[in-house]
Amino acid sequence: MSPSELPDPAPRPAAVSTDAVDERPYRLEQIDEAAVVQLYADGFVALPLDQKILIWHLYQAALAGRDIYYDQRYAHNLAMRAILEGILTHPDGIPAGVLAEITRYTKLFWINTGPYNNLTARKFVLRLDPAQLAVAATVAEANGARLPLEDGETPAALVARYAPMFFDLTVDPMVTNKTPGEGRDILEASANNLYEGVSMADLEGVEERYPLNSRVVKRDGQVHEEVYRIGGRYDAEITRIVSHLRAALPYATPSFARALTALIRWYETGEEDDRQAFDIAWVQAGDTPVDTMNGFIEVYMDARGIKGAWEGLVYFVNPEKTRKIRQLAEHAQWFEDHLPVEPRFRKPQVQGVTATAIEVVVEAGDSGPITPIGVNLPNDQRIREEYGSKSVSLTNVTEAYEKSTTDDFRHEFTWDEAEFARAKRWGAFAGELTTEIHEVLGHGSGRMAADVRVPPQDLLKEQYSALEESRADLVALYFVADPYLAAIGLIPAGDQAEIVQTEYEAYARNALVQLRRVREGTQIEEDHMRNRQAIVHWLLAQTSAIEVRRREGRTYYVMVDAAAFRDGVARLLAEVQRIKSTGDYAAARALFETYGVHFDAALRDEVVSRVDRLNLPSYTGFVMPKLTPVHDADGVVIDVEISYPRDLATQMLEYSGAARH
Ligand SMILES: [Zn+2]
Repeated sequence: MSPSELPDPAPRPAAVSTDAVDERPYRLEQIDEAAVVQLYADGFVALPLDQKILIWHLYQAALAGRDIYYDQRYAHNLAMRAILEGILTHPDGIPAGVLAEITRYTKLFWINTGPYNNLTARKFVLRLDPAQLAVAATVAEANGARLPLEDGETPAALVARYAPMFFDLTVDPMVTNKTPGEGRDILEASANNLYEGVSMADLEGVEERYPLNSRVVKRDGQVHEEVYRIGGRYDAEITRIVSHLRAALPYATPSFARALTALIRWYETGEEDDRQAFDIAWVQAGDTPVDTMNGFIEVYMDARGIKGAWEGLVYFVNPEKTRKIRQLAEHAQWFEDHLPVEPRFRKPQVQGVTATAIEVVVEAGDSGPITPIGVNLPNDQRIREEYGSKSVSLTNVTEAYEKSTTDDFRHEFTWDEAEFARAKRWGAFAGELTTEIHEVLGHGSGRMAADVRVPPQDLLKEQYSALEESRADLVALYFVADPYLAAIGLIPAGDQAEIVQTEYEAYARNALVQLRRVREGTQIEEDHMRNRQAIVHWLLAQTSAIEVRRREGRTYYVMVDAAAFRDGVARLLAEVQRIKSTGDYAAARALFETYGVHFDAALRDEVVSRVDRLNLPSYTGFVMPKLTPVHDADGVVIDVEISYPRDLATQMLEYSGAARH
């Protein structure tokens, strides 16, 4: 797997381009540490009509699966959402203070798809007395809200039933817990709904027939798989998804139609062979101007790293920006041949990576409202090696990040004016370029040792994702400083040294700044964060590239030697590649336990107080564009219009089909 990149935890600097001033609202509101930002897809209006209609059907297929992810993430999510949305849409007579707190909580619930922080995996709660929620539910029901009541149940009894989920931090405290401590089980310590009543011990000797797309449950002492497919678990949602995919077929290019047909087949059967056939067909549809990721894809939510979380993402190609990143892909073999790893771990023949700059139209489930900025799929290592992969940069997401952030951040964490000025001048360029190298070259590079026959995921287990992200980051950090990059015109030769310095400085700073996202506890769960923490702390321990400095009660990570930084990156990359290629679980675990998982709580508290003083967000939820079809008198779609709701609640209630009072 090799998946979605989170945005650089430090907000990206303003773009250096001289585009006409964009006066549209990007930043809409901030709820605690979460910013809400509008996403724009400006290229949509210029698309040919058949592509717009294709997108319209794929958009509906993406939204049709949204509730699958709610249910996967927490078994109580949909009922909790129904209670919250019932109250918010029927509020007359609820005390203003109570309603304000329910609104705050519900917005965070929507952004994170349930009561768990997307970055820390930890639970957040409603700051009310349960009696106040009971009164609110009772009033809403009297106003006409349809609550998820059992037969004869009162709204107050309903709230009492869900009180532990809304109010008690000790009940189901984490959605995913890969390091629960000695003697505790990673599945039992994780509150997600990918397993029920199953521990790791129950799975010993069990070979899953549907590893990616089933929930595993234990009933009467027996372990069963509930398959996600038509006629299986999530039948209703999947049936709707498939009907929209079928409607899309006539508008797709031949290769893309083959991919969609294969996807439909996989949704029908759930079989592993059909999943592989779909992955292959999807990679082979490299020429389609419109594309979708729809299915059970990323495995971060599963502590075992096996079960796929559902997501729906629809996008179209931005041809101009694509031209530039295809340059990287065209030279992929040169980069592979020059990887600073043992030659036996390099690919003699790099398979095509289709690199594309895209504009996202909608993201639901695992990819929205919190979105990646780059994605590289499929995750199946064997298919990647044999057929290649597709890598996309979500250019309108990156742009929305840039437009919605300010300078305050860099002032707070850069050591001096020179570092600040470099970040401002080159930060966006350097960040975008390293993200592209990470996606286009990083994940696709390297190969397994000749005698290793099983996928690296099976050997590296819960360490795999963080290790793979580290590997891709290290490839990017190594090659961004390579003169070859200037030789092929991707970086101005005269500025390369300064750009590299900017990137290395930002990378070092980020290990400090990202601690703001882990407000509780003293360990990091999220794999991209583990990877970034591990690389910087390994460099701190093993090289002289970075210094920890203090001034006026503030801590700084200052990159002081770019050559030492790159040399360290090469050494660590050689080791990380060895760990992946040989499946050395013990070494992976030691790397992350030593450098990536644990951190100093006092330092975190310092960072949190610094960002709070500036009221800076830790993460962002996006409001998606909205599509509306235009029909003729016979009900045929003759056009599709795009608009921008600019309000999180409006969009979330519309997606749920919850009407306002
Ligand atoms: Zn990645």
